[in-house]
Amino acid sequence: MASPLWSWLVDLFALLALPAVTVVVLLLRERGRLREENTALADEIETQKDRVWKLADSEERYRSLIEAQGDLIVRRDGGRIVYANAAYATLFGMRPADLVGTRMQLPRLDSRPVQTLEDGARSFDECMATYEGERWISWVETVAPGPEKHPLVQRVGRDITARVAAEDELVEARARAEAANEAKSRFLATVSHEFRTPLNGILGMADLLSDTGPDAEQATYIEALRSSGEALLALVDDILDVAKVEAGKLELVEEPFDLVQLIETVTELMAPRAQAKGLELAAHIAPDLPARLVGDRDRLRQILLNLVGNAVKFTEAGGVGLSLRKEGAGFEIVVADTGPGIPSDRLELIFGEFEQLESGTGERQSGTGLGLAIVRRLVGLMGGEVRAESRIGEGATFRLVLPFSAAAGAPALAIPHWPRQHVLLVSPSAFAARFLAETIRSTGAAVSIATTVEAAAARLAEPPSAENGAVTAALIDHALGDQPAKDLAKLVRIAGIADCLILLSPFARRPFGSSQEAGFSGFLIKPVRMRSLYERLGAGFPQAQAMTGGAGQPTQAPLRAIGAGLTVLVAEDNEINALLVTRTLERFGCTAFWVRDGREALQRVEASFAGTAPKLDLVLLDVRMPGMTGLDCARAVRALERKLCRACPLPLVAVTANVAVADREAAFAAGMDDCLAKPLERAALLSWLERLSQPQAGSLSA
Ligand code: ADP
Repeated sequence: MASPLWSWLVDLFALLALPAVTVVVLLLRERGRLREENTALADEIETQKDRVWKLADSEERYRSLIEAQGDLIVRRDGGRIVYANAAYATLFGMRPADLVGTRMQLPRLDSRPVQTLEDGARSFDECMATYEGERWISWVETVAPGPEKHPLVQRVGRDITARVAAEDELVEARARAEAANEAKSRFLATVSHEFRTPLNGILGMADLLSDTGPDAEQATYIEALRSSGEALLALVDDILDVAKVEAGKLELVEEPFDLVQLIETVTELMAPRAQAKGLELAAHIAPDLPARLVGDRDRLRQILLNLVGNAVKFTEAGGVGLSLRKEGAGFEIVVADTGPGIPSDRLELIFGEFEQLESGTGERQSGTGLGLAIVRRLVGLMGGEVRAESRIGEGATFRLVLPFSAAAGAPALAIPHWPRQHVLLVSPSAFAARFLAETIRSTGAAVSIATTVEAAAARLAEPPSAENGAVTAALIDHALGDQPAKDLAKLVRIAGIADCLILLSPFARRPFGSSQEAGFSGFLIKPVRMRSLYERLGAGFPQAQAMTGGAGQPTQAPLRAIGAGLTVLVAEDNEINALLVTRTLERFGCTAFWVRDGREALQRVEASFAGTAPKLDLVLLDVRMPGMTGLDCARAVRALERKLCRACPLPLVAVTANVAVADREAAFAAGMDDCLAKPLERAALLSWLERLSQPQAGSLSA
């Protein structure tokens, strides 16, 4: 049996042991938890170490990448360098660590303006004196947050020394090229003047010589002299034009001009060449075109002369047609020929400079190969287009579209109204017949075309029907043959048609004799002028039928009488030119006086104003004269007129080899009324004499 003490002891032990065990258990559990936490912490430390390593690795990679780019990087805190990369430090010949903490700056030698970029960064280029010498650096400057958000100025730069040097070189090269180009233009202007003056003398003297009644042999030599001189002049002009367009120096003028007159001038200039080769040359202007257009008349004439000139040059049989019609806002000109044609793969090539096709005979062609190059450049300057269409053996067609507009208030072409007429046109020539028929049809008249005498006779014998009304007039081309044409005229008369015209080439005109005696009511010379056609054909119609559009003009007075009664003063230092101009004036019936410079001219004008010398109607002033120039003289004359309060200004005309827009402007600014080019064109001189001979002469609305 257990003693109570023992039992008490057991109870006491049990009472004390239980908490101890609990404590021990708790302690053991806590130790386990701590161990777990420890492991997690160790893992976390490992992860963070990994991350730090990766960051360092990535930073290192970026740093080496930036260093490899060669960009210069510097960060400053209020001027003190807080970071600099190796590339930046090399500008100082130092290591980055030596720069950090300092306020070192490189001396700035030059700079370009600062630009602010879209993101607010500033960009600028500066030239600095670096350890390695002068360097141009292009900087981008931004503000970057530093420690505790303190703003730091960061500059990233790139060495652009090589680029700046290349740019400088380009600028210099361009300046050199521009200077050379200017020198070339000056040289060309001078050379052209120097060429033109003696050529003017040669051509003018040839003209005068041919008036002295030379025998046949001498006339041949004179003609050779003239044609060589003209060829040389054309060549000088061509080369000058190409150079001018190239240098952007060719100025186009925008002036109203008479379209019909221009086309007729071109055909008439080219007709002798065409007729000498037995070619027909005809032009047609669509009736809906305005009588006056605005544009550069002289350059358009040059383009047309080139195209028609080529067509005549390369065509051996058949003819050349020039036609104009409206096209969109501008108009289209077509020059077509029946020549050898151009291979389709050469149609573009021929517009290049110095490009010529092989001639079939293997001979070298005449010409420079510059004509079409000039045409294309001029047309381009005018804002138009030109292209060639052709096939070997089928002739060539040059089509150009120009955006010229109608002159303000320009009337429509002067076209009569003949709705009741029916014209029989008998001609074997393709272009002439077609174009004449179109010109006649635009009056409302009907036209029947016959290409042979037999076809014409058959048409005359036809009884009038609804489609084929009775013929009221006939136009017979002498190209049918002399006798066949005369025989046909008889048939026309027998058919009771009084209005019967013969169409003659200038060569046939004289041998043909009187058209009336040959049975015709009149004649027309090829190429036929639109106005002459309407006048001659209309003359035979029963009632005078009104012209629509512009009015017909009286025929021109004979050339020699045009200047009768006019006194012209010629101021010209070149003796040959002076002789040429005064003789030409005299041939037009003027009295001409010659003086050698501006001063003498002024004295003459003063004397004429004072009434101690003959009254002057016109003064031609050479612009370049020794002593007092033409321009100075014009200014002095105008000043004198103001002083004397003269109501009618004396017509003063500048004559110069330099007819660029600036030269013309200078002439007008000096008080001239016109500016004419050397060699002095007879047509230009004539138009002045005509103007002065008219009763209202004195009003100078040029
Ligand atoms: P050029 O007439 O002075 O030789 P162009 O530039 O006017 O120079 O013409 C270049 C070339 O194009 C000519 O040499 C000729 O071979 C060809 N050509 C031009 N127009 C015609 C045409 N109407 N018919 C055939 N060939 C032509």
